[in-house]
Amino acid sequence: MSDRPVRVRFAPSPTGPLHIGGVRTALYNYLFAKKHNGTFILRIEDTDQNRFVPGAEEYIANALEWLGISATEGVVNGGPHAPYRQSERKLMYHEFAQRLVDSGNAYYAFDTTEELEAMRKRLEAAKVAAPQYNAISRGSMKNSLTLSEDETKKKLEAGEPYVIRIKIPRNEEVRFHDIIRGWVVVHTSSLDDKVLFKSDGMPTYHLANVVDDYLMNISHVIRGEEWLPSAPLHVLLYRYLNWESVMPQFAHLPLLLRPDGNGKLSKRDGDRLGFPVFPLDWKDPATGEQSSGYRERGYFPDAVVNLLALLGWHPGNNQELFTKEELIEAFSLEKVNKSGAKFDPDKAKWFNQQYLRKADNSELARLFKADIDKRNMSGLSHIDNMSYVEGVSHLIKEKAHFVSEFWSIGSFFFIAPDMYDEAVIQKRWNPTTKDFFGKLNAALTNSTDFSHTVIETLFKSTAEANGVAPGSVMQLFRVLITGMAAGPALFETLELLGKDEVVKRISTALEKLK
Ligand code: GLU
Repeated sequence: MSDRPVRVRFAPSPTGPLHIGGVRTALYNYLFAKKHNGTFILRIEDTDQNRFVPGAEEYIANALEWLGISATEGVVNGGPHAPYRQSERKLMYHEFAQRLVDSGNAYYAFDTTEELEAMRKRLEAAKVAAPQYNAISRGSMKNSLTLSEDETKKKLEAGEPYVIRIKIPRNEEVRFHDIIRGWVVVHTSSLDDKVLFKSDGMPTYHLANVVDDYLMNISHVIRGEEWLPSAPLHVLLYRYLNWESVMPQFAHLPLLLRPDGNGKLSKRDGDRLGFPVFPLDWKDPATGEQSSGYRERGYFPDAVVNLLALLGWHPGNNQELFTKEELIEAFSLEKVNKSGAKFDPDKAKWFNQQYLRKADNSELARLFKADIDKRNMSGLSHIDNMSYVEGVSHLIKEKAHFVSEFWSIGSFFFIAPDMYDEAVIQKRWNPTTKDFFGKLNAALTNSTDFSHTVIETLFKSTAEANGVAPGSVMQLFRVLITGMAAGPALFETLELLGKDEVVKRISTALEKLK
């Protein structure tokens, strides 16, 4: 690493909700900045007005905030290089496009849409594989390279619409070093004369991106692999603007792939395959189409950060669970893989489960209570007793991946069962076991101590005294109390329900089950 202060940016275009691939890019920028005591900047690249989607920028900021990876400088918090929204920087870019024209590295092009279309057809007819406006075809188009100086001047003065295109050299090699991919070499014959400045007075992504990275003193460009093909053009822009000495280092991150490894994980895949690909719920303002998010699915933000960190980066050992501080400590771009990372929805759930187990019971109780309140149930006992809800959460969390599953696992903590698991009753309920539960209920009624260890001892001793194997009535006991054949630790469950409730439930079962 050079001595240059680390300044990195996440530069999304507000064209819709932020895909988790984008979230991962933001995360890696954040981790890299934190690791090197640098600055993480959020810049909004909204030069393409046609693709602007209302609400998208807010969505991006909210998502980063929810995940605890907000930028310190940028559209939300401002900073020394404000404004951070490219549409508000509009007037800054023309000067640089002009500089490129003046130095002979860019030119004016006056071609109409029809003329461009005609060129494409002509090249296609001549069997050119990728028809482009490039070092060869530009020679037969209407631009300041083919027109005389005078004609060009006249057109400009007459206010004819024009774009400014980069003049890609015909026969050169562009080399640059990518931290993840090593040396990248591209021949200019494969590049086209991209538009840098549009007829609407706006720069294109390429010009605005490079100019802003320069003006904002960006030290490292960490972005998705889909931008790798643009990097040679950006390198040429740095060269032509005489900024090569401060060109950022590049790091192009691997793609996120579908679970089967077959292609890029797209915006559509999530709801189709049953897992979210967005951090937060999103409703498309134009079509009304809804997409689900990790937050609303009940994921913990730290679990999402943890799982995304490992999609493409490898810590070099087998550790999988990382706090944010540990990630910052361990992260390095050198350990980012070149090849695509397969998204595994089961693994995502596993991460949430791990965070659920580690979560504070009081926090889980708060979330669980909110979930129950949403269900609008009446007649629930103990629901306002937070230490009870906390106890329930403590017992249930081992069994769940999400708080939203708590209710189906543990509703019996708040309502006595009205049905009993059929299979277990069929198999285990008979005069002997009925008699056993009658005796057990009497023993429980007489016990002054209702701790789980005492209940367990009473259960075992009553079984022994009646010649019943404890193992043959354990599951039945659970069914009488909870209605279900499986669930959280039984004796702890009984302790939490309390003596009165347990005795009442056994009595009810003895009456109901003949
Ligand atoms: N605006 C680009 C995007 O939407 C940013 C690419 C870059 O980071 O250079 O992803």
